[in-house]
Amino acid sequence: MQLYDILVIGGGPAAITLVKIAGPTRKVGIIRPEDHSMIYCAMPYAIEGLLSVEKTLKSDHLVTNAGADLIRDRVTAVDFANNTVTTELGQVFGYERLVIATGGVPILPPIEGVDLEGVMTFKTERDLRTIMSRLERGVNNVVVVGAGAIGVELAQALNQTGLETHLVDMAPHIVPNMLDAELLEDAEQALVKAGIHLHLQHRVIKLTGGSFVEEIHLDKGQTIHFGPQDECSENGEIRAIPGLVIFAVGTRPDIGLFQDSPLKIGKNGIIVNAKMETNIDRVYAVGDCTEFTSAITAEVWPGKLATNAVPMARLLAKNLSGAERRYAGFYNGSATKIGDYFVGGTGLTERAAQSRYDTVVGYAEFTTAFPIMPSAKKVKMKLIVNKKTRELLGGQVVSGEPVTDKVDLITMAIQYRIPVNQLVNFSYSSQPYQSFFPANSLLTAAAEQIVQQLG
Ligand SMILES: Cc1cc2nc3c(=O)[nH]c(=O)nc-3n(C[C@H](O)[C@H](O)[C@H](O)COP(=O)(O)OP(=O)(O)OC[C@H]3O[C@@H](n4cnc5c(N)ncnc54)[C@H](O)[C@@H]3O)c2cc1C
Repeated sequence: MQLYDILVIGGGPAAITLVKIAGPTRKVGIIRPEDHSMIYCAMPYAIEGLLSVEKTLKSDHLVTNAGADLIRDRVTAVDFANNTVTTELGQVFGYERLVIATGGVPILPPIEGVDLEGVMTFKTERDLRTIMSRLERGVNNVVVVGAGAIGVELAQALNQTGLETHLVDMAPHIVPNMLDAELLEDAEQALVKAGIHLHLQHRVIKLTGGSFVEEIHLDKGQTIHFGPQDECSENGEIRAIPGLVIFAVGTRPDIGLFQDSPLKIGKNGIIVNAKMETNIDRVYAVGDCTEFTSAITAEVWPGKLATNAVPMARLLAKNLSGAERRYAGFYNGSATKIGDYFVGGTGLTERAAQSRYDTVVGYAEFTTAFPIMPSAKKVKMKLIVNKKTRELLGGQVVSGEPVTDKVDLITMAIQYRIPVNQLVNFSYSSQPYQSFFPANSLLTAAAEQIVQQLG
């Protein structure tokens, strides 16, 4: 039996990060079933045709160059008492320390008709290749359910290929966990202008059809029809499939393997402490398979993002080499692109903040370059502050240029608890191509508006 200092279950960003750091100095094994690890975030852009599918596949060298053994297999059982794992192919491996990074699986809600052909979720290389092959075979309609960042990116990509595209969400506006409604009006309009049928405040209640999905029934009586299925050719091969329904409604932790084990599991995943330790000695968990808290509210919080999974794994890898780092929790800085708008948010939305704190908000709107420059585009920032502590709870940015640097700046202010009255003195830079006039900056202007209200 092969014995590892560190054995990692998983092949996503959390597992790869851990192996890259811990691999060179220890005997590390990593077990994952897929042929390729994926750059999930880039998958919509392969559908759109901006990237080849191959560009979304990660090289195995990421782990083998770190000196780790890559084992292509699926773990089917873990024996925590004897420190071994067993795989689908019947292999048994021993470990000194076990890292669980089994990630998440997209949720397929338990509604009638989800087992019909043409209904799917969107995460794996197989999902990506299925969509690409259906496009080639002449699919002509698609319904994307869920208007979070993944759903919005996917719907735009499919729409771009010429498909009749519907985007359905029960929320009153798109990306509801990232931004508040008033910042999204232009972006939503951009989706509609691009030809996407937006069904907000609608819930999919049932799917019907023969063997293939043909009708998508929404609450409030509306039905989206895909039309009859195309004829089969003589050899029985289906030439064209009228439609696809793709659910992008969130992720649940992939922890079925541990259902009847002594591992402590919460609603959102494996329970870990700030050092990524589980309740079992020498067993750790990182990434989407874990349950963790918001760094702002201290409540158990959703945080299924690569930008949470990777820092968790990095922290654990450092701690396994003797560091004493602690994970603060989720801030959930994230971003997407909607039409020509780059949008992003961090911390709590105003809606989420209001239900927990007495809040005050401030806005600033300038341009991405000096307004006299031909490249200048509008950029708007919103800050949400806790009235009592004067600390930031969240912030959002909409711009004609990428926003992640601005979103991260707001996260830093939240993370290091900079009171809003100090943010008004924030020192910034300016240049005609890259910022508004030296006369002002988004962060100081939005903070100033809040300070004025607070008195
Ligand atoms: C389309 C898409 C776009 C996204 N865009 C972004 C983005 O822009 N920004 C962002 O921050 N996040 C984004 N995400 C989310 C991000 O990809 C996830 O948060 C991240 O992949 C989580 O990493 P992980 O390593 O914890 O788990 P995963 O990436 O889910 O990896 C889990 C791994 O464990 C393996 N595994 C599971 N069970 C077993 C078993 N029994 N034996 C062996 N191996 C097993 C799986 O096969 C997989 O390799 C996106 C996700 C998708 C699907």
